[in-house]
Amino acid sequence: RTVYVNGQYLPEDEAKVSIFDRGFLMADGVYEVTSVIGGKLVDFDGHATRLERSLSELDMGQPLTKDELLEVHRELVRLNEIDEGGVYLQITRGAPADRDFVFPPADTPQTVVLFTQSKPGLSAATPKPISVISIEDQRWGRRDIKTVQLLYPSLGKMMAKAAGADDAWMVEDGFVTEGTSNNAYIVKGRKIITRHLGNEILHGITRAAVLRFAREAQMEVEERNFTIDEAKEADEAFITSATMFVTPVVAIDGEQIGNGEGGGIAARLREIYIEESRKAAV
Ligand code: PLP
Repeated sequence: RTVYVNGQYLPEDEAKVSIFDRGFLMADGVYEVTSVIGGKLVDFDGHATRLERSLSELDMGQPLTKDELLEVHRELVRLNEIDEGGVYLQITRGAPADRDFVFPPADTPQTVVLFTQSKPGLSAATPKPISVISIEDQRWGRRDIKTVQLLYPSLGKMMAKAAGADDAWMVEDGFVTEGTSNNAYIVKGRKIITRHLGNEILHGITRAAVLRFAREAQMEVEERNFTIDEAKEADEAFITSATMFVTPVVAIDGEQIGNGEGGGIAARLREIYIEESRKAAV
């Protein structure tokens, strides 16, 4: 693979960052993952806008403009001949001369890394449905900022695997927040229910698009809290993310949801999402 690091396109084994990088020492960095369909970027603008917000919430600068970022994304997709897959982007507060809790001087160059991931079949019409377990949400309080502090989500994924499931839905104060790397939904009597936005969840770019398409298709949407018990009684459940698009959830804590094969609303939303994304990709 050819990757991008601080202004250079390099073979992946030649790309290097400092051991003093604050991303490495303190998880002091933010990221985005933008999917690629048909060699083009899906919802690039949404991801670039959320990136700006993540950087600004952490008092980090914006080392590249949106146009420059788009150019790097496109160049990596071209160099690596990505047809279906994604582009990972990470920006950290850079590498000061030594480890220190205090932020480095504002003129410390930030570290910018991008690489591609090829995932043939990403936009398949019928994805493999997933099963989830519920776990306590033990992440920090600013989940609306897309930071690289992914240890708890990673542990959650391992708890799911150990339980024979694919992923975990996290629960706080009795209500589902989200999946380890996706937003969570249930469907009851044709109504799509997903947690309202706030600091407790990441404001998914796929979530925003899917809810917009659902409303445009006259589907009923309710943004509110729901519990695991309510989810287990739902007609359908599904997740959304840039890497999973819309994917059905067919079991929660071992209890089957709906017919156990994924429901019609999730299937329809996936179809619309992929069709519209393909049209609008840049
Ligand atoms: N929630 C969390 C915790 C995530 O990590 C992600 C994606 O990585 C999402 C939700 C979905 O966001 P998006 O649709 O922008 O990929």
